[in-house]
Amino acid sequence: MNDLNILIVGAGIAGLTAAGLLKKQGIQYKIIERDTLEKYNKTGYMMGLLPMGVRVLTELNLRESYFQKSVKMSHYEIHKENGDLNKAFDMDFISDDYGPYCGLGRKELIDVLLEPIGKENISFNTTVKQLEQADNKVNVMFSNDEKESFHIVIITDGIHSSTRKLLWTEDEYKYYDTHWGGWVAWLENQSSDTYKEYWGAGSFMGMYPVKNRIGFFIGGPNDEIEKLGLQAFANQMKAEIKPEYKILHDAIDALKNTENPFYWEFSDVRTKEWHKGNVVLLGDAAAAFLPTAGVGASMAMDSAAALVDELSRTDAEHIEYGLKLYTKRQQKRVETNQNDSRQLGKMMFVKSHLISAIRDYSIRYYSVKQLAKNITKTIEG
Ligand SMILES: Cc1cc2nc3c(=O)[nH]c(=O)nc-3n(C[C@H](O)[C@H](O)[C@H](O)COP(=O)(O)OP(=O)(O)OC[C@H]3O[C@@H](n4cnc5c(N)ncnc54)[C@H](O)[C@@H]3O)c2cc1C
Repeated sequence: MNDLNILIVGAGIAGLTAAGLLKKQGIQYKIIERDTLEKYNKTGYMMGLLPMGVRVLTELNLRESYFQKSVKMSHYEIHKENGDLNKAFDMDFISDDYGPYCGLGRKELIDVLLEPIGKENISFNTTVKQLEQADNKVNVMFSNDEKESFHIVIITDGIHSSTRKLLWTEDEYKYYDTHWGGWVAWLENQSSDTYKEYWGAGSFMGMYPVKNRIGFFIGGPNDEIEKLGLQAFANQMKAEIKPEYKILHDAIDALKNTENPFYWEFSDVRTKEWHKGNVVLLGDAAAAFLPTAGVGASMAMDSAAALVDELSRTDAEHIEYGLKLYTKRQQKRVETNQNDSRQLGKMMFVKSHLISAIRDYSIRYYSVKQLAKNITKTIEG
């Protein structure tokens, strides 16, 4: 145990994972969150957690709780936009060789990660107004104008991090935009162990099971969505789908009937330097992911474990060195995975009918390991 005193900015997946691991190491921390308690953890979308993430839950003794709230995923299928199957992959090799691969809601994962911490120990409705580094400490001014000093500040406030802006200039991080986006819709009382995606020309749909329900992602190119609006865009997609694939029609109807559905722009971000002095970026604030590979949360947890591991060996006089070791361990590992999700994005988000027909044909000759080469390497260490 060391005598570090750490501030975590953002109680999302990376922030809570870091907090749980710091607590386990007996390192002192404070965690703040922009949302109010009433608003906190209301964002409902679905995610798949790869073994990189689940291994961290094992370290946190949260494995059983995670299994109770998730469903095992065994298959992945790519379909055409009319609903017909194009290629099926067996995913059991992940669970067999590396560790559990399950689907769950973001809300449920946050609930699991909160167990060792407790909501009462999060300062809600709080952000950072000012960060100033001096004498190997970070002086922080919070949104309520209170001031406090910490040895280290961990910024985990997500892809559009506003805390990052306090120390990083705009030319030090870069967004990568596919110019596609889409909405999330839910069908209740459904179960499946298969991820299904429908790669179209100018449209994308994904079906991602969690416990007792299925989350659907329905999207396309931003310009088309803006031009048509949700209802007309959804009707256009529905018209392409064969009537026998009733669940897809139901999902689109569910979206049309959802008030303010969750909308997600398909963009990511990459930051050149992950730490400045004693301030460090973690999770999406350091490098976010396109949805294409379903790996952002797993990598955020994997990075949190690497960061806390390095910090547990660091004393107050050598903080920058500890942060440098964390960056050396994680940045390349994360960015190569980010490359995979960008590559997959280029295959998935296609407007032209000709190119999508060539893609649909060639995809039949790919294995899942070839589709996500770097992610497979990361899982293998
Ligand atoms: C629709 C969708 C599907 C996804 N599917 C998958 C998947 O299948 N598999 C996967 O691994 N990943 C998936 N992801 C990505 C994954 O959700 C992210 O990579 C992950 O949430 C990153 O964690 P984070 O803690 O860095 O950021 P977040 O989880 O976004 O947490 C950021 C936290 O910071 C808070 N905050 C924001 N601003 C401030 C501020 N100024 N001060 C204090 N607090 C602040 C926010 O309220 C939030 O609580 C998906 C994402 C989306 C949107």
